Amino acid sequence: MNIAQAQEILQHQFGYDSFRLHQQAAIEAVLAQKDCVVLMPTGGGKSLCYQIPALLLDGLTLVISPLIALMKDQVDALKANGIAAAFLNSSQTGQQQGEVFRAIRNHELKLLYVAPERLLQSGDQFIDYLKGINVSLFAIDEAHCISSWGHDFRPEYMQLGKLKLHFPNIPLIALTATADKLVRQDIIERLNVKDASLFVSSFNRPNIFYAVQPKRNHYAQLLKYLDQHKGDSGIIYCLSRKSVESLAADLRDEGFTALPYHAGLDKETRDQNQELFLKDEAKIIVATIAFGMGIDKSNVRFVVHCDLPKNIESYYQETGRAGRDGLQSEALLFFSWGDVAKLEDFARVEGNATQTEIMLKKLKIMGNFGDLKTCRRKFLLNYFSEETVTVCGHCDNCQTEFERFDGTIIAQKALSAVARTGQKFGLSYLVDFLRGSEAKTIREEHKQLKTYGVGADISRDNWFDYFKDLIGQGYLHQTEGQYPVIVLTETSEDVLRGKVRVELIKVKVKVEKKVSLVSDLEHPYLPDLLDSLRQLRMTLAKQENVPAYVIFSDATLVELATYLPLDTEEMQKISGVGDLKLQKYGAEFLRAINQYCTAHQLTSRIHLKLPKRAPKTRAKRDTAGNSTYSITLEMFQAGMSIAKIATIRGLSISTIEGHLVRYLPTGEILLEEIVSEDKIAVIEAALDQFGTGNGIGPIKEFLGEEISYGEIRAVLASR
Ligand code: ADP
Ligand code: ZN
Repeated sequence: MNIAQAQEILQHQFGYDSFRLHQQAAIEAVLAQKDCVVLMPTGGGKSLCYQIPALLLDGLTLVISPLIALMKDQVDALKANGIAAAFLNSSQTGQQQGEVFRAIRNHELKLLYVAPERLLQSGDQFIDYLKGINVSLFAIDEAHCISSWGHDFRPEYMQLGKLKLHFPNIPLIALTATADKLVRQDIIERLNVKDASLFVSSFNRPNIFYAVQPKRNHYAQLLKYLDQHKGDSGIIYCLSRKSVESLAADLRDEGFTALPYHAGLDKETRDQNQELFLKDEAKIIVATIAFGMGIDKSNVRFVVHCDLPKNIESYYQETGRAGRDGLQSEALLFFSWGDVAKLEDFARVEGNATQTEIMLKKLKIMGNFGDLKTCRRKFLLNYFSEETVTVCGHCDNCQTEFERFDGTIIAQKALSAVARTGQKFGLSYLVDFLRGSEAKTIREEHKQLKTYGVGADISRDNWFDYFKDLIGQGYLHQTEGQYPVIVLTETSEDVLRGKVRVELIKVKVKVEKKVSLVSDLEHPYLPDLLDSLRQLRMTLAKQENVPAYVIFSDATLVELATYLPLDTEEMQKISGVGDLKLQKYGAEFLRAINQYCTAHQLTSRIHLKLPKRAPKTRAKRDTAGNSTYSITLEMFQAGMSIAKIATIRGLSISTIEGHLVRYLPTGEILLEEIVSEDKIAVIEAALDQFGTGNGIGPIKEFLGEEISYGEIRAVLASR
């Protein structure tokens, strides 16, 4: 048994070019009969780490997974690739279970999925049963459930420690997407695999942009955000079922296709809403954390948290549902310390002080993340024990400059507002008071005070930030509870008396971030073709009664809509197209692509796809630029107008012009093809008159609306 065989299975059975992250190393270790612990982020590809060995080893691989609801889908997905798999759980009839046992007896299965409670059913009965059959490997999915340090502790998992005692010679692989160092250690100890090889992949999700906004008037902020993301798919998480329902309804009133999802809805409604979301018929799903377990929707462009997650693990997992296709995506959190206070009650575990303490500590760290002024990605990665030293440049804080300034006077105003109103009011009241609000809520006697209105020159938002800063620095204190008020501290006196200088932080420059889905792709896909491939996939999925991704993942469809394979041989090169799927679905997808290409006069672009097994990251840098230009060139040469190419590709006209200009010097395109002759004459004259010493701005200004920057650049490039 060697890695070449594993590679062979990867390509033919699963249809993938190369291993990812530590897949290969983990597979090698398992094949060498070693125990291992694999830590990989969501979507990283943990399943293959045991599925491939399962196929290579002689006997049955037992997969222990807590997600009963997902077992059927997981098994369907394996069967779709021609792999003999089954599951045993309480959702089956006795007859169905009998059928599974028969298949095991006849050595017909390679993988069997079971829930941990089944494994430990009626004493050691199932364990004894396993001793009588040929088990080749134990795979423990979601292994963090074994640790009470973790966020998802399941007592049944504790019993899994027995496995190694009963089966010392059968390798065991434990997998998880969320584990800090303590949890990692716990997994190793509790599973009794002290000598396990450890494979830790980076938890960084580079295509996710992390941002936090203060949770004030957040509904208005959310609407603004959604307006900027029209047409994108997204998940909005809320804490309670009630707020899920009302937010979804409100968003529908605003014209968004938003549906609710929570455990209180009946199964039919839940399934239907989930399905509409997966099909992109509803763009937004408003959900409690009940939503998302095992959702394999790759084009989720944003995840918004209206309420604070209870710990970093949950936050990371939930935001991780964005951007599985590798395209630019965003995670937005509306944060307030009030939410931290609210969640404290949930964090308490009845009769378990230690556990409560752990949960509260995790909650506090989540709060620190919300309040962070430094790189959010670095914070997250450090939390997961990755020692990154560099900041990411791709989160809100990295794109914000904070300026420190002498805020003594501001601090004095704030503290005196607190003192004069008797230390009995909350943040919002104090800010209104300082700003001299006419609102009725401000008490009449307060309007007579000297401090009333002394802060009118500072915006509401800035005041909130300053107060938070003062609280953070200990010059003020915010009480706990549902209605927190601001009170003075021991150090307040010194500020009021002018004994200390207070430094405050002001947000200086928000770097405008430009996020373009298409230009960040290695090669852009054709959105309308993707839509029709999705529909085809839906039809097939319905026929076979499986979730859509069992047919092909979104990533595979995106590749199809990018590289336009036109025959079987070309289609084989697409990631996720294994032998069996090619045989089953190839013809129908090829027909759809061929039709599209004929209608739009396009040819295959499979040559743009990286050769098999090329290291992707390097190749990306080398070819990213060139290929997007050459697609434009191809379309242009096929006779499409610049405007049409721009529409199909979802790019601006000037971008397309920019692409074409590159081909002028090589003679692949002639100037006259993109600029009319009389315009050329006018532009030439202007270029002569002004020169290009000051850029082409003045020339454009002189020539006016009629002539575009692209046209000027084109003439310039041909000189
Ligand atoms: P995880 O369990 O780590 O969240 P999965 O095992 O479900 O991730 O894999 C996520 C997706 O990536 C799946 O669609 C899977 O088929 C795909 N995948 C896994 N390994 C590879 C690979 N080497 N190349 C391409 N795609 C892969
Ligand atoms: Zn950053």
